[in-house]
Amino acid sequence: MTKPTPTKVDMEKLVSLCQRRGFIFPGSEIYGGLSSCWDYGPLGVELKRNIKQAWWRAVVQERDDIVGLDASILMHPQTWEASGHLKGFTDPLVECKSCHLRWRVDDLAGDSCPSCGGELTEPRLFNLMFKTFMGPIEDEASIVYLRPETAQGMFVNFENVLDTTRKRLPFGIAQIGKAFRNEITTGNFIFRSREFEQMEIEFFVKPGSDKEWFDYWLEERFNWYVKLGIKKENLKLRQHMKHELAHYAKACYDIDYLFPMGWAELEGIANRGDFDLVQHAKYSGKSLDYFDEETKEHIIPYIIEPSAGVDRSALAFLCDAYAEELAEGELRVLLHLHPTLAPIKVAVLPLSRREKLVALAKQIYADLRQSWMVDYDDAQSIGRRYRRQDEIGTPFCLTVDFQSLEDEQVTIRERDTMNQIRLPIAELRRTLQAKLGGEPLFVLPPGGKIWKEGENG
Ligand code: ATP
Repeated sequence: MTKPTPTKVDMEKLVSLCQRRGFIFPGSEIYGGLSSCWDYGPLGVELKRNIKQAWWRAVVQERDDIVGLDASILMHPQTWEASGHLKGFTDPLVECKSCHLRWRVDDLAGDSCPSCGGELTEPRLFNLMFKTFMGPIEDEASIVYLRPETAQGMFVNFENVLDTTRKRLPFGIAQIGKAFRNEITTGNFIFRSREFEQMEIEFFVKPGSDKEWFDYWLEERFNWYVKLGIKKENLKLRQHMKHELAHYAKACYDIDYLFPMGWAELEGIANRGDFDLVQHAKYSGKSLDYFDEETKEHIIPYIIEPSAGVDRSALAFLCDAYAEELAEGELRVLLHLHPTLAPIKVAVLPLSRREKLVALAKQIYADLRQSWMVDYDDAQSIGRRYRRQDEIGTPFCLTVDFQSLEDEQVTIRERDTMNQIRLPIAELRRTLQAKLGGEPLFVLPPGGKIWKEGENG
């Protein structure tokens, strides 16, 4: 068998769909937008919530060795001294003497400004942390930083979690939250922005078992994307070269995705050794060690950190799901989103606006909304309505027609195959539960019938 080749989607088409259908808007658009800030619209917010929920489920809910945390974005300024961010979180940067645009040195191909060809200054170091002031007085003593990663909140709470949960090594802390980086170059839609969301795990292990756990998490995290529908051929693991490793890291791999602009990092997995707990113990003066009951020794755990971006994941899931095909001689745009991630799970479509039909359709709509995000659409032809749902990735459409009033059945249509069957209304909830949960689609009941859109059922 030949290996499937990686595929790339056109970014412009995706951005346009995201804006047109209410996934993602430019931030502060009525004021002309704010560079690299994005607002998630009604569908985008659902997609993002579903991604975060799927992650939380996989790493917290379904495991007994990881607990959750929601730490404050503003942290004691010493946190950033201890972590090395105040000194080390810098990028060398050059400025164009003519147009004054700034560029990351490692992004430059030549030695002139990529925008206007002007002469560039010598590189200067630029700290990526956003600075602000705590309280009414804006002086040195009140400087605080917006966190550039969620990780530090988990390190400083290591003892709190240990004391309150009675977890023993190996165990982890997981957190989802906003992070801020005053990136010099942003772009590629939501790939790199200055305000973004991370999903991070800090997994504490006994020194010596770190290599094994590192390999475990590489596989676990890679498979998470595949399970949620990303094509394997569009993902790869990339080992960091020695010179790329952060000062604290013993090893690091990126899970790269084939974004429209090329292969780029989706998630980083690092073996941070004991760096973080040693540093915070040193700067806080508090002991952050762990008493090993077996060996009766105090040890400093090593940390394996899988660190993912919510926005980059959203972009990867959208890119991977986007497809165009010909259906009945017309272009059909669709998002093959995994049902777990699809913003809307089911759409209820009454065939006409006649009172009796509407009453039944609204009743079904009200009932299913108790369990899922459901859409109700009665505008334009049924074909148009199917296309609207395909384009936002809705896995199932239910058509309520005049026959439904008599036989208490509706037509259920599946997004990817466009197959349809009739199903008793009383069975809807159970069937949808199973199918949205991954049951094979359309196992026919005896005497049942499948037909394609456009054919008569
Ligand atoms: P890059 O090299 O792309 O700047 P990084 O190596 O600095 O990323 P990490 O510090 O490892 O990124 O952060 C972990 C994850 O957080 C990344 O894999 C990415 O998904 C997300 N992330 C980091 N920076 C940004 C950003 N500016 N915008 C959106 N997501 C980000």
